[in-house]
Amino acid sequence: MSGTQSRKSITKTESDEPKAATRTASPRIGVLAIQGDYDAHAQALREVGAEPVLVRKPEQLAEIDGLILPGGESTTFLKFLERDGFLSSLREFVQTKPTFGTCAGCILLATEVTHPPQKSLGVLNATVERNAYGRQIDSSIHTAATELPGGPLEMVYIRAPRIAKTGEGVNVLAQRDGFPVLVEQGHIMAATFHPELSADHRVHQRFVKMVRSHMGRSSR
Ligand code: GLN
Repeated sequence: MSGTQSRKSITKTESDEPKAATRTASPRIGVLAIQGDYDAHAQALREVGAEPVLVRKPEQLAEIDGLILPGGESTTFLKFLERDGFLSSLREFVQTKPTFGTCAGCILLATEVTHPPQKSLGVLNATVERNAYGRQIDSSIHTAATELPGGPLEMVYIRAPRIAKTGEGVNVLAQRDGFPVLVEQGHIMAATFHPELSADHRVHQRFVKMVRSHMGRSSR
């Protein structure tokens, strides 16, 4: 410490140091940008101090510290991902890197999907039922208690799935009608609602914190 200080007082030109410090402080978080509301996620990430990267190619997975799978239509995501080996690269990524799935993204992460059954990345220990709350017209906004500090949270539901069952290791952070709507399992996080559509960014903050602590662990 004192060594650094004395070096600073001698050299005076320090332009490289603050830049390096800022880069390590801002995790690069990818947002799968195939369809859906990826821009709103990118904006929320920026507002909580992360650097968003719009991911459209499997090669980009190597450049990011974490990934958000946004809402949209899970069947459309799957169709796109099945091209160019993207799905298998993603399967590998989600095994070890922090990943947050919202709505359709939550469906993609689950070990089991119903109504109807479909392929998934199988990393969130849960059964997720698609379109469990009805059609588009049944989309709604609720405010409910969560385990996140700071009081009740606004939750925007759009043709939302239901986490019908969770298995070992899944920590429930919020519920709706007795079913989990926000969960965490190791380096995986999932929400059946759209946190990017609310001004309150506590959910993104939580994910960025998870990414940061994962970065700390893997560099040790
Ligand atoms: N109903 C969509 C699906 O099954 C998810 C809706 C959403 O992401 N808002 O993929």
